Parts: sequence; C-alpha cells; structure tokens
Amino acid sequence: MERSVIRLSHCQKEIFCFSVPEDCPSCGEVLRGNRLQEAPVSLPSPFTNGHKSSCCLLVAPAEFDGTSDLHTGISNTKVVYNYTRGGVLRDQSGWERCVSVPLVRPDMFHLLAQWDQYLDHFSDGSMWDPAWHFDEEHQNCFTYCLHFINSVLATEGRSSLSRETFTHSFILPRMRRVSKYTTLYDHIQRHQYYMVDRQEDIQDD
Ligand SMILES: [Zn+2]
Repeated sequence: MERSVIRLSHCQKEIFCFSVPEDCPSCGEVLRGNRLQEAPVSLPSPFTNGHKSSCCLLVAPAEFDGTSDLHTGISNTKVVYNYTRGGVLRDQSGWERCVSVPLVRPDMFHLLAQWDQYLDHFSDGSMWDPAWHFDEEHQNCFTYCLHFINSVLATEGRSSLSRETFTHSFILPRMRRVSKYTTLYDHIQRHQYYMVDRQEDIQDD
C-alpha cells in the first residue's frame, strides 16, 4: 500500500520521509515530542483513481520511465474507455493508480450531461474497428484519446489540438511530476529520508 510522503524543516534542511524521525538526520537534535518550527506537510500524490475521476484523460503506467509504454484512456463516471489492438475496451477496473488530466470545466453543464453518451457513441465509430485499423505507431490508444478530445473541442466551437501541443502541455509536465515523486518515494523507501538544503522559495513543480 502506498504511504504518504511528508516534508518537514529543521536546521535549514528540508527532510522528506514517511514519518517524523526520532532525531533530525542532519543535526541530531531530538525531534519527536519536541515542537517543530513548522508542522510537517504531506505531499500530494500525483496518482489518482481513474474510476473515480470522471471526464478525464487518464495515463496509466506500465512503468513511469518514459512516454513510450504509457497507456491512455478516457473516463466517464466509472468506466475507462481505451483503445487497444482488440478495439475499444470499457474497463471497470485496472485504472486505480494513474494520472488524470481533467477535460471538462465543472461549469460546462451541457458537456458534462452528454459526456457518457457521447463517449460511448464515439467509441462505436468505424474508425476504431479493430479489424482494420490498429497500428502501434499511428493509430493507437493516444490517437483515440486525442481524436475524442478534438471532437469535443469541435462541438464547443474550439480549434483542435495537435499531438505535439497536447503531449507537451498536458502530458509531459504531469509525467515529470510523477517521475520526481517516484524517485523521491523510492529513495525514502531505501534510506528512510531524503534531505536537501532549505530554499526560501520552494518550487512545487
Ligand atoms: Zn536539524
């Protein structure tokens, strides 16, 4: 089970760990029971449960070590639609730990109300017929998602996104955050904590 990462500050250091250590790993002063200068803060995990995030683009890892092995899908209220060699799958489980990119603003009532129906109808399109279309490089899970997003944008009268724009502005920044978080998490798992010099302006990204 995933543990949450907490951050605390002591003697000009930022210390990341799963629980407050007995002593400060930098200066050795007893921490437990003592009042810390600031309360430990827990870092939000970049992962969400895709079956509980509706109207999102979801990115599920094989391993989060690059963009090549990522599998993407689109969620409705519970089900995750994703295009594979076998056609469009409607998954009820398996997307519990993924990265989500919200696609609809909460005030877009019209779109929210139509979403499930629209996604289902889109997925029945002949373009996603497994018999004659799937292609690892050019017609894959990501193509399906991007086509869907662009068809939604079109109904809203907005211009479509290129693959590059979408990847660079929506996917990669989140993947970088995942990669940093995973590295930090693994480090804490092996060494109990991770420590850096404290900076006045901590950038969350
Ligand atoms: Zn200290």
